[in-house]
Amino acid sequence: MLHLLEPSRSSATQQRAGTRSIINVAGRVAIGGRSIAIIAGPCSVEGRDMLLDSARAVRDAGAVMLRGGAYKPRTSPYSFRGLGEEALDILADAREATGLPVVTEILDPRQLERIESVADVLQVGARNMQNFALLSEVGKSRKPVLLKRGLSATMDELLLAAEYVLAAGNPNVILCERGIRTFETATRNTLDVAAVPVLKSRTHLPVIVDPSHAGGHWELVEPLALAAIAAGADGLIVEVHPNPSGALSDGEQSLTPARFARLVERCGAVATAIGRQVAVPKSGAAATASVVRAPNGAKSAVKSGAKSGVRLGAKAGVIGAAPASVVRDASRSVEEPWPA
Ligand code: PEP
Ligand code: MN
Repeated sequence: MLHLLEPSRSSATQQRAGTRSIINVAGRVAIGGRSIAIIAGPCSVEGRDMLLDSARAVRDAGAVMLRGGAYKPRTSPYSFRGLGEEALDILADAREATGLPVVTEILDPRQLERIESVADVLQVGARNMQNFALLSEVGKSRKPVLLKRGLSATMDELLLAAEYVLAAGNPNVILCERGIRTFETATRNTLDVAAVPVLKSRTHLPVIVDPSHAGGHWELVEPLALAAIAAGADGLIVEVHPNPSGALSDGEQSLTPARFARLVERCGAVATAIGRQVAVPKSGAAATASVVRAPNGAKSAVKSGAKSGVRLGAKAGVIGAAPASVVRDASRSVEEPWPA
């Protein structure tokens, strides 16, 4: 297991010089290499038609993964809290229809088995960044974990939260900067652009940015996305809704599909300027969701299709049915780490 912080700094991991983790999502998407992965979709799954419309629209615009909340952590208990089980079935259908791997949020350790039967990536939201029981539970899965920075969490705290997942046996963690709470009220949160290069210098894990929850308004999403890529982000997660003004959550920060298509195009230009590229969707149906437990996970594994996993090393590669283990085999590279 490759750790983020030295044991002497409290628990695990260390940055190994010259190595970066490239995380393989369902054998279809590589996160942490030269290509920048754009994830998009609605804040919440609100129904079958809207999700399928959203999924097709973001795929056609260039997203390589679909987001959509089935269970929503809302500040008020009276706000829309997601369709739950029904939304998970809809996400599975959208995955089948578009071939896009799915990322969805897990709120409670008891949801793991059900959510990982649908999700290709398990999202741990900002409000749960220090839910240590949840972090340990997702650490028993080999599904990659998208770990969002807490509202008022330092980078050290984010890294130590990631450490919980790694320490439980899951090396597949993607860090996400999504804005932090500051004195500023003009934006929903303050995007900490510096977190991208700082985190990347301190860990081997990929770092992505959520410009939607950072800005809180659709007009800010594109400029923040461009800044994130210029700063070295390995990907973006963006909220897109077919009818933002009618959205049940986060409509004000959601892009229309047309605005999202423009964002992807402009991100491509910034990526090119810094020697990278925006990842392109793979054609064909996504591999069946795979569930591979870490050795300390007691529950039964449901194995099929490509597994997700992490590879490390100066020439690590990812796309393909990589084993869910750390691989340092330069000869099988298809994706170069970035920076090299
Ligand atoms: C979300 O992605 O919709 C979400 C709730 O994000 P965060 O946890 O960053 O607030
Ligand atoms: Mn949201």
